[in-house]
Amino acid sequence: MFSHNKRLQYTVRVSEPNPALASLLLEQFGGPDGELAAAMRYFTQGLAEEDPGRKDLLLDIATEELSHLEVIGSIVAMLNKGAKGDLAEAALEEAELYRSLTAGGNSHTQTILYGGGPALTNSSGVPWTAAYIDSRGDPTCDLRSNIAAESRAKIVYERLIAITDDPGIKDALGFLMTREIAHQKSFEKALYAIDDNFPPGRLAGMPEFDSLYINLSTGPGDVDGPWNSGPEWERLDGDEAMQPLDGGEGTAKVSLPPSQLETLKALATRTASDPDSDPMTGAELGSADAE
Ligand code: MN
Ligand code: MN
Repeated sequence: MFSHNKRLQYTVRVSEPNPALASLLLEQFGGPDGELAAAMRYFTQGLAEEDPGRKDLLLDIATEELSHLEVIGSIVAMLNKGAKGDLAEAALEEAELYRSLTAGGNSHTQTILYGGGPALTNSSGVPWTAAYIDSRGDPTCDLRSNIAAESRAKIVYERLIAITDDPGIKDALGFLMTREIAHQKSFEKALYAIDDNFPPGRLAGMPEFDSLYINLSTGPGDVDGPWNSGPEWERLDGDEAMQPLDGGEGTAKVSLPPSQLETLKALATRTASDPDSDPMTGAELGSADAE
């Protein structure tokens, strides 16, 4: 069960209203790498998790992400507070109100449509979607995805910190960014706490292909590194890279029942192209050279 603690996880001190900045910060409220996406990602994974350690970790972090949602949403609400009142009470001259709402980004939508409250959209106003969550129900897949999600969230916070000079907002965003670093660390530890974590799943790969690097790009610019060369790797270069890897013909076949074979032949006959034809086309008729 959930219980709400009225205090925020980190104190929010916003110097002055700024609707344009508020709309940019929505990226971390309802965007793909935002806090709602993070909370839902770990909450749904946690509910289905079998391992007691990972279940505990996922639900702790999911709950913390909701606390982050509350912090970032509170910053947005503070930044919009002035505009919200001005619009609700029509406190300014029309032109002045218009100017204050259209200061940048989608700040006017945030005020006119959402009344200055934090909306579950990204910074361009695109509604939040469950399609942001890419869990697959396999712990090694999902932990790797969580590690990537935390690193993305960290970078987006870094960018948001770069666009504001409000010290209170910088401080709170710095806290939220730092927590994503801690989460990335926990998820990495949890991944490597699974003894057999690579490759994901139960089946081993085919040994002749699972450490094979295929150099399929031609032209200058080939670079060797530990990702494609060295004792871990076999390599195929040049013409060798262009062969069917099973040693077969590289064709696609299927055995069809005779009735389906007949139908396909009829289709092929009916739609056969005549290489000797030279039909007049509409394009030619419409061209200046047409007779
Ligand atoms: Mn977070
Ligand atoms: Mn996180």
